[in-house]
Amino acid sequence: MIDQPLARLKGAGPVTAARLAERGLHTVGDLLAFLPRGYDDYRTVYRLSALADLPEGTTVVVEGTIRRVHLFPRRLLDVHLEDDGARLSARWFRPPSGMAKVYAKGMRVAFAGTLRRTPEGEPLLVHPIRAPSPAIGMGVRPRYPQVTGVPGRRLETLVASALEQATEAPDPLPAELLGRLGFPSLADAFRGVHRPDSEDRAVAQRRLLFDDMLAIQLALAGERHRRGRAPVFTADVRADVRAALPFALTRAQDSAIDVIFEELASGRPMHRLLQGDVGSGKTAVVFAAALLVARAGAQTLLMAPTELLAEQHVRTLQALGAGLRVGLLTGSTRPEARRRLMDVDVLVGTHALAGEGLPLRAPALAVIDEQHRFGVEQRSRLCRALGGESAGMLPHLLVLSATPIPRTLALTVYGDLDLTLLDEMPPGRRSVMTHLCVGDSGAAYAAVQAAVRRGEQAFVICPAVAGGQGRAGVLSHHPKLVRRLAPARVGLVHGQMPAAAQEAVLRKLRDRALDVLVATTVLEVGVDVPAATVMVIENADRFGLAQLHQLRGRVGRSDKPSSCWLCLAETADAERVKVVVQTNDGFQIAEEDLRRRGPGELFGSRQSGAALFDLSGYTRLVETARAEAETLLANDPELTAHPALRALMVSRISRGPLFAAEAG
Ligand code: ADP
Ligand code: MG
Repeated sequence: MIDQPLARLKGAGPVTAARLAERGLHTVGDLLAFLPRGYDDYRTVYRLSALADLPEGTTVVVEGTIRRVHLFPRRLLDVHLEDDGARLSARWFRPPSGMAKVYAKGMRVAFAGTLRRTPEGEPLLVHPIRAPSPAIGMGVRPRYPQVTGVPGRRLETLVASALEQATEAPDPLPAELLGRLGFPSLADAFRGVHRPDSEDRAVAQRRLLFDDMLAIQLALAGERHRRGRAPVFTADVRADVRAALPFALTRAQDSAIDVIFEELASGRPMHRLLQGDVGSGKTAVVFAAALLVARAGAQTLLMAPTELLAEQHVRTLQALGAGLRVGLLTGSTRPEARRRLMDVDVLVGTHALAGEGLPLRAPALAVIDEQHRFGVEQRSRLCRALGGESAGMLPHLLVLSATPIPRTLALTVYGDLDLTLLDEMPPGRRSVMTHLCVGDSGAAYAAVQAAVRRGEQAFVICPAVAGGQGRAGVLSHHPKLVRRLAPARVGLVHGQMPAAAQEAVLRKLRDRALDVLVATTVLEVGVDVPAATVMVIENADRFGLAQLHQLRGRVGRSDKPSSCWLCLAETADAERVKVVVQTNDGFQIAEEDLRRRGPGELFGSRQSGAALFDLSGYTRLVETARAEAETLLANDPELTAHPALRALMVSRISRGPLFAAEAG
């Protein structure tokens, strides 16, 4: 039975079951839906002498004679192999006691694993599988995501016994749909992805990925169908907007405002994504919309991901004036002050406030800044909360995003939102000079010191909190920089600090009590510190291209020349990172990122099958899912005829963010 608890599965004791449960795997069905990340091909047995020419990361089966066994009890076991004068080490960290005794000098053994190299360039297998010797017929093996305390082999055995029960898996997809799209049944699809010798793997993966997409599109289409009426705003405020802004609007801002004004006048709730690169001027567009709403005596709610960004918005909007009354609501606002907020035109707060009863008299427009921290589900909950249930009116919704997702993809991903692009930068913006530092970051830190001497500020980004395995960590990098950059005042911020402490540091930076800030990617979102002119990114190869671009956007926010320094170890792959050096165009970088990584990465491991597709194949599958969802709901809005499909949709929504990009 597919909903049988895993503890009752052949080969899973209570301890294993508990470990699987920690990973969210409770039933046989959960385990079947736990898809391999990839497949390792162990069909070729390599001679040790052939390893020198193979790229790192190749899965190999090798055979050799044990030359030496080296044990650091409880820490490390090295087994050195030799064959025809060529060598290889097999290495285990924290090996189980007794493991070393299995291996003796002179023994003939075979190992299967992923090829790595020691710093000296010798071939190395870390935690290889012991293969039968002579090594033949290891075949192709599924590679599952790691479950702490459950070795891959055990997982394979468990999945095999789960598969025996898969015949009984009820199929959420209607048979007619399966036939039309040429998809296998759910049980066959599970067999297709888990069985290492499967011949129908591609279609099985496509079917399972489609299930996930269909569940998402059903949820989104449901939202579209439920949309009701919204308040109408028709005043003419264009002249006031122009008078209030200290600059002339760009053509892109102008046409975005046109579209938004048209929708605010339509009586149907706006559901729009305003996407524009960092610095493209989204705030001015929000200002225009808020002004129109305020003229009718209605209110705008503007939500930012952090308190600091909320404060930033309050200051900007207040500075623009035009009679807009702007208020700030935080977790610590007292009841007395909360009541006074009832009468503001624009209420600015953080995402955390979305769930609470908001002190708003006549909310009519909700604006969410930095979309990717805010899920589809939260979004619709917010709209329902703001809409007066009795009046049957829904608020207009405007979502702001600086994450440059290519248009084709945005349309399918944010299925419930219409899209407006701010594809033009305000004039006079200096682009950030970007440099690559391979092996030596001296020039980068010289630039930091020069900036500090000029009274400007700098950021240093590391990929990790605690470093290790060739990745710089902020915890150890910070004290080093304090010494190296003295007397500059060097601060530290990372995601493991409490939110209040993080904000305190960012405030110090803004108030110029710090010169340099060492940070992890917590800095990625929206921080506006105009005096910052230098950005140093350590181990730049460890970041996504779009992420590098986002980080770079934290500098170059004034009329001073700014620079960004991408530092790489000698051995790192500089090729990919070069794209960021060559262009400042976020969309071009995003396209390139997507082309290199494939859609699978973008949407997270859940949709690991996505790795199969190129962008257009993926988009086609999403579009099919979207069309099928529309058809299904048109005939049967509550899916009463398809309870299993309904259940799939509900469980998909409750699992949290629909897309990896939203998880932040
Ligand atoms: P983002 O899209 O990243 O939120 P902002 O709205 O914060 O960008 O705008 C970035 C900077 O550009 C702000 O300092 C803003 O005053 C300025 N700006 C916005 N629009 C224009 C424009 N049309 N001309 C000149 N400067 C502009
Ligand atoms: Mg912004």
